[in-house]
Amino acid sequence: MLEIAAVAAPHWCRCPVHELSIAMSLVDTACEELSRLGDVRVDALHLRLGPLSGVVKDALLFSFEVAAKGTAIEGARLDVEDVPVAVFCPTCEVERTVEAFQYFQCPVCGTIGPRLVRGRELELTAMEVTDNEPADRRGPEERPQEE
Ligand SMILES: [Zn+2]
Repeated sequence: MLEIAAVAAPHWCRCPVHELSIAMSLVDTACEELSRLGDVRVDALHLRLGPLSGVVKDALLFSFEVAAKGTAIEGARLDVEDVPVAVFCPTCEVERTVEAFQYFQCPVCGTIGPRLVRGRELELTAMEVTDNEPADRRGPEERPQEE
């Protein structure tokens, strides 16, 4: 029962402090990455978020804006990709996408307790950056050859 509680409890806890601390660590990670990349501006962060991650998306989006304020990535967009919950059913021997609150049962054969494959993601997958250098170093224009 303890495991189930550990998975389910975050859904009932809407404490924004939780999202804020996650947002702050996302900002930290992005700023660290930014310092490695050099003279670029961060346009967006891409995040994969599962419904069982315990994170409330709207609260995270709001917290991210707050956490990014005054940092090197201020103004960057947080792009959240919702990851569906998926389980692996040992009876069907196949991976199945399920509704978030039914993942203890295979939706097709009804096997109880299939293994959770996806749904708890909270992963920073990509950063969109733009070069800060002005784009004035264009190559020679290509002209159609006229003879
Ligand atoms: Zn099944």
